[in-house]
Amino acid sequence: MKITDINTRLVTIPLITTFKTALRSVDRIENILVTVLTDSGQSGFGSAAPAAVITGDTVSSIVGGIEHIRDNLIGMEIGDSEKIFQRLNSCIVGCMSAKAAVDMAIYDLLAKSLEIPLYRLLGGVAHDVETDITVSLDTPEKMIAESREKLKRGFEILKIKVGGDPDLDIHRLQSIQETIGSEIRIRIDANQGWTAKEAVRVGRELEHRGIEIELMEQPVAARDFEGLRYVRNNVAFPVYADESVFSPEDALELICMKGVDGLNIKLMKCGGIYNALKIVSIAETAGIPCMIGSMMECHVSVSAAAHLAVSRTIIDRYDLDAPLFCSMNPAAGGISYQGSRVCFANAPGLGIDEISSE
Ligand SMILES: [Mg+2]
Repeated sequence: MKITDINTRLVTIPLITTFKTALRSVDRIENILVTVLTDSGQSGFGSAAPAAVITGDTVSSIVGGIEHIRDNLIGMEIGDSEKIFQRLNSCIVGCMSAKAAVDMAIYDLLAKSLEIPLYRLLGGVAHDVETDITVSLDTPEKMIAESREKLKRGFEILKIKVGGDPDLDIHRLQSIQETIGSEIRIRIDANQGWTAKEAVRVGRELEHRGIEIELMEQPVAARDFEGLRYVRNNVAFPVYADESVFSPEDALELICMKGVDGLNIKLMKCGGIYNALKIVSIAETAGIPCMIGSMMECHVSVSAAAHLAVSRTIIDRYDLDAPLFCSMNPAAGGISYQGSRVCFANAPGLGIDEISSE
């Protein structure tokens, strides 16, 4: 089965509610749908999500990146996948989201050629996983209302966005917890919005006030690895890296310097499943747990992330709520949601039959 072409198509998906973090505010997303065509007639599907302030990738850089990748991969044999992934990763520097979209489409084809779901190709079995759901950064009143609405829908793990004003963040978290009680698991994500000292102050104050936090994600600037370690050593909660860990090299460095308690892996940062598996292996060797997350992505790429998520036991947290913000699924098939549960279809590859043509 040889690669004959790689097509892209841009989709605009309005969000059901605005998504706000310390870095950006989004009310519609643009994703690039990717189809890898082969001479057997079988197609592999993927998608990429631009997140310029995080990955540096825009719609045009992703489309241009994929065109360049296509020129390098045409004619290659799907079964010779190691060579494909080596070439995919070496033919262009950066462009991680473009690489991720093509990478997952190749994995989709590999699993389809064996007529097994992708999670089985990766060594996993299908089991529904529970995703957290994000509460956007806003006024405390709006965040309380949003938290209540999510709990009503059956979610039991909230990922609360903070970052920017440490005192207001403490107030936000205290108000939310007083309203929702202590049964609900709370993850907080500052999206680089604090200095290391501010993060420690927030962490200690939350502890002092008896506000239970399951984990604190990316408190400091992406490249401030020393700051991350300082926070980790000075707060009681586990500290997870997100924007600090793009590559296997980042994971190795952070883990060797004992800078983190956990990693949030996203395919758009690391360039797809091939590189994500390297990060997972490094983390597993060091006993560092992983979470699988996503950018504001549609069902296609989040399906790939979900298949990866159930394939390794060191991945034990799931932050796969992005499609729940989308007003439509541009693909037929893939993962589905039952409340907070992410469910798999027992179908070959990603379980996606087609991606819509308009
Ligand atoms: Mg994050």
